[in-house]
Amino acid sequence: MTTSVRSWFTGRIVSMLAIGLLVGWLADRIFLGLFLATLFYLLWSHQQLHRLLIWLDKAAHKELDPPESTGVWGEIFDGIYRIQRKHNRSKQRLASVIERIQDSTAALNDGIVMADQNGSLEWWNRAAGELLGLQMPDDQGQLLTNLVRNPKFARYMDNSHGKEPIKIDSPVHESRQLQIAITVYGQGNRLLLVRDVSRLHQLEIMRTDFVANVSHELRTPLTVISGYLETMSDGMAMNPDTPPIFNRALDQMQEQATRMQRLIEDLLLLSRLEATEPERISQSVTLKSLLAGIVNDAKALSGENQHQLQLECDDDALLTGDAVELRSAFSNLVYNAIRYTPSGGKVQVKWWQDQEGGHLMVQDNGVGIDPVHIPRLTERFYRVDKSRSHATGGTGLGLAIVKHVLLRHEGRISISSHPGKGSRFICHFPLSRIKQANVVNV
Ligand code: ADP
Repeated sequence: MTTSVRSWFTGRIVSMLAIGLLVGWLADRIFLGLFLATLFYLLWSHQQLHRLLIWLDKAAHKELDPPESTGVWGEIFDGIYRIQRKHNRSKQRLASVIERIQDSTAALNDGIVMADQNGSLEWWNRAAGELLGLQMPDDQGQLLTNLVRNPKFARYMDNSHGKEPIKIDSPVHESRQLQIAITVYGQGNRLLLVRDVSRLHQLEIMRTDFVANVSHELRTPLTVISGYLETMSDGMAMNPDTPPIFNRALDQMQEQATRMQRLIEDLLLLSRLEATEPERISQSVTLKSLLAGIVNDAKALSGENQHQLQLECDDDALLTGDAVELRSAFSNLVYNAIRYTPSGGKVQVKWWQDQEGGHLMVQDNGVGIDPVHIPRLTERFYRVDKSRSHATGGTGLGLAIVKHVLLRHEGRISISSHPGKGSRFICHFPLSRIKQANVVNV
C-alpha cells in the first residue's frame, strides 16, 4: 500500500468516524452514531468486495475493464488490472514463441522427439512421427522402446552417455536407415534427433562393396604374379650367369607384390569390419596367450634389429570379444612399434584392469610422432612421413583397422607421443567386457 493510499484510507475511516461521532453527539447518542458510521463503512467495503469478485470471475475468460471505484478500492481494482494485463501480454509473447518453435521444428526434415526420464514420449515433430511411425495423440505418454522395438535402440536409450549416434532400420519402412542421437538434459530427460540416412548408407554400402570387390578381384592375379616371381627368383638364384640387375629387379618386384598383397588383405579386412555386424563378439578371449603369440611374431619381425620386447599380462586376464579381430588390432600396434623403433629399442606391451575397465598399452621408445598428426592418425592412408612408411612396408591402414575393431568392442584408443622419444598407444575397453568374460568362464 503506497503512502498516499494509506493516508487516504486512514483519512476516510477517521472522517467517517468523525461524522458518526458528530451526528451521535448532536442526537445525544454517541455510540449509536459511531456504530452506524462503522456499519456504513463495512457495508460499502462489502459491496466493493462483491464487485471485485464478480469482475475477477468474468475477467478469467476475457480481458475486461475493472469496475469504477474511488479510494482504496479503486487502487485495488487498477492494481489487479495492471498485473492482469502484464500477465496476459507475457502469456501472448510465450504462446507466440512456442508457436514459432513448433512451426520451425515442423518444417524440419529431421525428427525431434522429447522423452521424460522414464523414456515416455512427451512431444515430437512431424518428421519424427513419419520416420518412427508415432501417432498423435495415441502414443503420447507411451514408452518409446515399446513403439520402436529394436534391441540396439533399447540399449542406446538405457545408456547413451558419451556414445556415438546409432543407426537402425526404420520401424516404418524396412529399406530406410535412421540415425539416432540422444542428448540428455534437465533431470534425465532425453532429446532424440532422428535423421533419415538411407541415401548416405546406400553410398557407404556402394563404396565398401566397390573396395571389397576390387580387392577381391586383384587378389587372384596377384597371387599368380607372386608365385611366378618366386619361381623365377629361385631359378635365377641357381643360375650363376644371371646378371645382378635381374636379381635386384626380381627382389624389388617380389617386395612390391608382397606389399600389394598386404594392402589387399588389409582393405578386405577393413571392408568386412565396416560392413558386417559383430558376430563372435561374445567370445571369452584369454589375453595372455593372444599377446604372447603377437610378441613372438614381433620378435621374428624384429629379426636382427634385436628389439627388447616386454610383456606384462595376468595369466587369467579375459576380455569378451572376437579373438581374430582383437589379434589383428593388437598386432598392428605391436608391429608398428617395432617398425617405427630403431634397432635395440624397447617395446612394452601391458594389460591391466581398473574400475574403469581394461586397458592394453603398447609403448615404444622409437621415432615418435609430432602431436599435430595424432588426431588424424587413425584415418585410412594417413601417414606422418610417406617415405618412412614405405620403407617400413606399411599399408597406411593399420591404425584404421585398430579403430574399427575397438569401435566394434565398445572401446577407444588414446595416443600420446613425443618426436624422438617414443609413442604410447592405449586401447580402452569398458568394464562390462571384462566382467562378462569372467562370468562366461566361471
Ligand atoms: P602404416 O602402415 O603406414 O604404418 P598405420 O595406420 O599403421 O599405417 O600408421 C599410420 C601412421 O602412424 C604411420 O605412417 C606412422 O607414421 C605413424 N605411426 C604408427 N605407429 C607408430 C609408432 N609406434 N611410432 C611412430 N609412428 C607411428
